[in-house]
Amino acid sequence: MLKKVFEPIKIGNLQLKNRLVVPPMVTNYCNTDGTVTERYIAYHEARAKGGWGLIITEATAVDERGKGFHNMAGLWSDDQMESHSRLTERVHQHGGKIAVQLYHAGRQTGSHITGVQPVAPSPIKDPTMNETPRELTKEEIKEIIEKFGDAALRAKKAGYDAVEIHGGHGYLINQFLSPFSNKRTDEYGGTLMNRVRFAVEIIENVRKKVGKHFPILFRISTVEFVEGGLTIEDTKVIARMLEQAGADAIHCSTGVYKTMMYVIQPAAVPHGFSVSFAAEIKKVVSIPVIAVGRINDPLIAESVLLSDKADLISMGRAALADPELPNKAKEGKLDEILPCIGCVQGCIGRLLKGLDICCLVNPSTGKEKEFAVEPAKEKKKVFVAGGGIAGMQSAIIAAKRGHEVHLYEKGDKLGGQWLLAAVPPSKTELNTLTIWLKAQLDKLGVHVHLKTELNENIIENENPDAVIIATGAKPFVPNISGVNLPEVVLAQDVLAGKKDVGQSVVVVGGGLVGAETAAHLANHGKKVVIIEMQKEIVKDGEPAVKYFLLKDLQEHNVEIITSATVKEIKQGSITFEKDHVMKEIRDVDNVVIAVGSKPENTLADKLQGKVEKLITVGDALKVRKALEAMEEGYRAGLAV
Ligand code: SF4
Repeated sequence: MLKKVFEPIKIGNLQLKNRLVVPPMVTNYCNTDGTVTERYIAYHEARAKGGWGLIITEATAVDERGKGFHNMAGLWSDDQMESHSRLTERVHQHGGKIAVQLYHAGRQTGSHITGVQPVAPSPIKDPTMNETPRELTKEEIKEIIEKFGDAALRAKKAGYDAVEIHGGHGYLINQFLSPFSNKRTDEYGGTLMNRVRFAVEIIENVRKKVGKHFPILFRISTVEFVEGGLTIEDTKVIARMLEQAGADAIHCSTGVYKTMMYVIQPAAVPHGFSVSFAAEIKKVVSIPVIAVGRINDPLIAESVLLSDKADLISMGRAALADPELPNKAKEGKLDEILPCIGCVQGCIGRLLKGLDICCLVNPSTGKEKEFAVEPAKEKKKVFVAGGGIAGMQSAIIAAKRGHEVHLYEKGDKLGGQWLLAAVPPSKTELNTLTIWLKAQLDKLGVHVHLKTELNENIIENENPDAVIIATGAKPFVPNISGVNLPEVVLAQDVLAGKKDVGQSVVVVGGGLVGAETAAHLANHGKKVVIIEMQKEIVKDGEPAVKYFLLKDLQEHNVEIITSATVKEIKQGSITFEKDHVMKEIRDVDNVVIAVGSKPENTLADKLQGKVEKLITVGDALKVRKALEAMEEGYRAGLAV
């Protein structure tokens, strides 16, 4: 099934063993002075071992004042080179090739990070940022061009195999390219030719400093998806100019900060959604073209290459989810690949909060050393209560360490609440994690006891050495008059298919679960109203997830009533208060309750002091996101 992805290819003089690329992803793992850390090196080393053809590092600042994140890599000073040399050496030890991505954030940063006012081609505030940038003078433009060249030379000396210049995602070079951000009237603004000048002069300066044979990749946002921004017809012209200036490959991404949901796309965006743009670029250049954009499966990568729409495939989040993807694909072990599910919780979700990235499905991403699974010194009998994702994860890690593991699930299948989370529109991919976890339990010989609730009697009779409580959460039922009527159902029961609802439905609670349940029902032809106490709905959702969910609700005419408190439910109606006025919705067939959950941890209370080691994880400890549940499950597996 897979041949083309494993065909070698050259970028300039650089020979790559296959066409699978880890694209740049900011990790926030580096020191604030731009030097790289052991954590950052171990993270890349894992991907080098995993068999990727090319690894491109995260955006690496060429100027301290051009940093966009506190803990990002930098190459603005010779002092930073030694740490980068250690990185390239470790990647090369495993036969990997590594390029560094060079960038300047321009207006997409803030003085809270750089200590100075941001700069840009024009003094226009980015819609997502708080500060208006200062317009760069021509002298400053020339200085930044030199800084790109100097950083590229440092990269070459530090052992990188290539450099990539970041001209996409709304950063400084992109700001010059785009009429969305560039309103200059000198030779760096106005016409397309003028707007490309900054990028061309950077390539020329880099080429002058690194020499003829050192590969230069260039990343662009082929389409910005903003009013007045770059279109594919613009970027086709730009790509030809970049090739002529000396670029050896074009890396085709999409979006800017304002359209972040198209830079790092959630599951609502189709796989390979931007491949067609790469294909357009490929028609007009003769250098290799790299496609990217929610390609999480090597089979999709293969078919994009076979369709001749690109020459290489970037699979960023797929590499966070499973660093071993190329090796597994090469060995035909496609079933063993742990896929990225497009949840955007651990990667961009954390980065947008200023945190270091991780991955929901793979808690060891970025913790390669800390989460290394070593054999246990002594084999123990470990019991896990609850077959949701946290329970399964803890069982897997404990079993990998050599323990005898028994997993107890009171229901008739594994997956818990995660199975329900996969029901709403665009969420089906969540099931791939359940399938993967189940296969691992099987492979590792974990004893799974379905339809069996772990209780004190079992513990007393079996006497395990350690018990992990992963019993999850149960829905919270508010104290509203009429809540016990037969027409009132829980969102969880609707999603599980246990309760049918009529044509007209009111969902009480506009958090992620309520809004997704509303979308699920509206997509199945129901007339739906959401009533939410707070000023907005989906406050607990990742921004990109929220964007597409609100769009879906709007397209399906779901009525959203915010800042409202439900007062009474009667047969056929619901009464709520908004702005001190009582209102009623009539002809309601069903009311769906989705006002949150509370931990289900009664077993933990009962077992206190009765077992040698007792660990509670996930929602059973405190109701949070799946990201925390998976990580705690992993930690528990290491701790027993
Ligand atoms: Fe993919 Fe979610 Fe992991 Fe991000 S956190 S890489 S979206 S699985």
